[in-house]
Amino acid sequence: MDYTFTNFVVGSSNQFAHAAALAVANLPAEAYNPLILYGSTGLGKTHLLQAVAHRIRRHHPTWRVVYLPAESFMRELVQALHHERMDAFQERYRQADVLLVDDLQFMAGRERTQEAFLHTFNALYEAKKQIVLSSDKPPQDIAPLATRLRSRLTAGLMADLQPPDLETRLAILDRKAFAHGIVLSPRVAMLIASRVRTNVSELEQCLARIATYASLHTQNIDESLAEMVLQQAFAEREQAVTAPRIQQTVAAHFGLKMSELRSKQRQRTLVFPRQVAMYLCRELTDASLPEIGRHFGGRDHTTVLHSCAKIARMEETDESVARLLWQLRRTLAP
Ligand code: ADP
Ligand code: MG
Repeated sequence: MDYTFTNFVVGSSNQFAHAAALAVANLPAEAYNPLILYGSTGLGKTHLLQAVAHRIRRHHPTWRVVYLPAESFMRELVQALHHERMDAFQERYRQADVLLVDDLQFMAGRERTQEAFLHTFNALYEAKKQIVLSSDKPPQDIAPLATRLRSRLTAGLMADLQPPDLETRLAILDRKAFAHGIVLSPRVAMLIASRVRTNVSELEQCLARIATYASLHTQNIDESLAEMVLQQAFAEREQAVTAPRIQQTVAAHFGLKMSELRSKQRQRTLVFPRQVAMYLCRELTDASLPEIGRHFGGRDHTTVLHSCAKIARMEETDESVARLLWQLRRTLAP
């Protein structure tokens, strides 16, 4: 399904963000600049950013509308630095008529990426080009980016997305089911919408699972089938990204044992993978620094902090490290 305004269901949880995005799409650089959408995962930020891009491209076919996740911005930056093509890199973005950068939170702690982004941002802003950003946290939480963007941000608009209420979840479910040719009885729709509450991605995934299950087993989608598939889905979600899973994945990647990764041995062949694993724990789990330290044989939180800072630096300066992390992230949280 396309990420367009037509396909976006509006409810009280996203009304403001939707209106702001629509205003920007209809009057680029005249309504709100920059526009920042924020809210946790799966609430429609990417959908709205893409909808803005889509509409502006349609109304202004000759404009250069650049959409990209902050992660890609960083990867391109690293490549440009590596191949000494910084001019081309900067040129590419400065020629944009509209720049949409998704998932800005990814820049947290990545100084060089923030630096390059600020240059791009300022150049475009001064040229009165529309900028749209998204983040899973309020931008003031992405220090120091926020400090340096602050004066610019106040000229723009921040709009947040909240988890949808039951009525909106039902409407979204209805829309998605229709788009995929899935027939849901009102009772089944109610069952799904009342169980899956936190975000829209999950709602979609559960719907898809239920439909797949029903078609594989040539059964009708009734309440008991939906109930069973939901149970399964919840059981699997329990196996979210955890420190042991990260350790296992990193160990497998480097051909090491989990115990080696957790040990206090300091061979070079162990130190780097261990630091990578710590870094990913920091990024992908909610574990605190001392908790991460405990997963790695009771290391001190300052050791963990040092490891994370080191890998963050390497990710921005060493293309092979950037690629490695990209791969590992894809494996862990596809
Ligand atoms: P985010 O970028 O905030 O993590 P996405 O924009 O990727 O979330 O949305 C996740 C999924 O949920 C997408 O498939 C998107 O189409 C869908 N979605 C989110 N909000 C809505 C909505 N209000 N109406 C229709 N679909 C939605
Ligand atoms: Mg997104």
